[in-house]
Amino acid sequence: MPPMPLSLEDVHAALSTVQDPDLKQDLVSLRMIRAVESDLAGVRVTVELTTPACPMKERIQSDIEAAIRAKAAELGEGPPATIVVNFTADVRRGAGRVAGGGDGSAAGSSNPLPTVRQIVAVGAGKGGVGKSTVSVNLAVGLARTGARVGLLDADIYGPSLPTMLGLEQIPAAAKGNTLMPFEVHGIKSMTIGKLVDADKALIWRGPMAHRAFQQLATQTEWGELDYLVIDLPPGTGDVALTMSQLLPLSGAVVVCTPQRVALDDARRAVRMFEQLGIPVLGVVENMSSFVADDGREFDLFGKGGAETMAGTMGLPFLGSIPIHPELRIHSDDGTPLLNFRAGSALARSLEHVCGETARQLSIAAASAALKQPTLTVR
Ligand code: ADP
Repeated sequence: MPPMPLSLEDVHAALSTVQDPDLKQDLVSLRMIRAVESDLAGVRVTVELTTPACPMKERIQSDIEAAIRAKAAELGEGPPATIVVNFTADVRRGAGRVAGGGDGSAAGSSNPLPTVRQIVAVGAGKGGVGKSTVSVNLAVGLARTGARVGLLDADIYGPSLPTMLGLEQIPAAAKGNTLMPFEVHGIKSMTIGKLVDADKALIWRGPMAHRAFQQLATQTEWGELDYLVIDLPPGTGDVALTMSQLLPLSGAVVVCTPQRVALDDARRAVRMFEQLGIPVLGVVENMSSFVADDGREFDLFGKGGAETMAGTMGLPFLGSIPIHPELRIHSDDGTPLLNFRAGSALARSLEHVCGETARQLSIAAASAALKQPTLTVR
């Protein structure tokens, strides 16, 4: 005799024992269960994740399967013929606030980018550590998971995106006062490097830098985005201040190389974000080590230095990226998608950084939502 199908109540009861590993609540309370079906063919569950880049997908899937089997056993039934878990994703709005002004609410009228769910800045204590490389690969990597992603080159003193995204042959376009983003490699991007002479961009200072950032950020037709990644200038300067006063940032990623002298600069970048009221999501270690063609690994700069620094500062470590000649070549050629060749070690390290960043953004959004004041009427 075939096993009796589990009732929908039984499946819900099973799902309410499965915790989201990051948000530490069960999937039912978190309203992540979108659909449940149960019949003789088996059980089908649709789960809505808080990001399509969720690195916890497999774990959630196996926890659901185990909980449903356990429920069937508890009822004295055999396990369902099949258990299918489908995932969808809806990136939740970031809890970012605009520093020192307006009503401070991300969703409020003072937010100049209401169609963007999460804004994440990428910063570094100094130039040349791979900040733009991480920004580009974070944006492209998140888009590969299905997210709608924008990338803003806020490094107005030395914009790298025209090269790294291969924008040279694409003409800039505007409708009235609105800039049309460059749609390449699955993302929407904007850079001052395509709007003014690159040599001129270098001499921008103070109020001009402020205005340039504001125009690029708020006059670009981004449309609906899950993530807007902002590639900041290196160091601790005007643009970061302008950004924090203008946009509700969900958080910042700090990129550094492992040497001790580089870590001191990275600490300064962390403190700058803290002073600006921007939560630091974590640290990425770039140029961690060099991996030769034969797989031998050479530790050039002291691999692990950034992870240790993140630990001592109480910050999440978002992953390490090795020195990889392909990464440099694809940056120079403007072909970032080639970094994600299936099964390559480089792709794995970049995907890990994307997943961990998305994860920290989801955790920050969820914990802020829990802290929202609720009105109790007696
Ligand atoms: P920043 O934005 O911090 O100034 P970039 O991202 O422009 O740094 O990187 C500087 C140079 O180093 C670029 O030519 C880039 O292609 C190269 N690069 C960055 N990270 C790596 C890496 N992990 N492996 C190989 N080359 C890299």
